[in-house]
Amino acid sequence: MPLEVPVASANGSAPHCEHLDGLEPVTPQSSYCQDCEAGYDERATLLICLTCGWVACSDGSPNQHAKAHYAETDHAIAAALETRSRWRWCYVHQRLV
Ligand SMILES: [Zn+2]
Ligand SMILES: [Zn+2]
Ligand SMILES: [Zn+2]
Repeated sequence: MPLEVPVASANGSAPHCEHLDGLEPVTPQSSYCQDCEAGYDERATLLICLTCGWVACSDGSPNQHAKAHYAETDHAIAAALETRSRWRWCYVHQRLV
């Protein structure tokens, strides 16, 4: 078993999020929340699962499908779907990573 040494992130003392390790680039499976579909509210931010490319509405939406996806799959990291955004959230660490 390899030894895991905690590494400080670039912006401070927060421990390294190991859930980012080994993630491959993913392609979004859709451009809308796959759970809401027709009922999608355009004000909701869309998140993409960085493990499998699943697209779902953010925790700020009424349905919180991205969080539901994590609950179902244990896929830890979601990112904002907007390509220019660097927003990434780890559900396990409960913080931005
Ligand atoms: Zn993490
Ligand atoms: Zn949704
Ligand atoms: Zn996923």
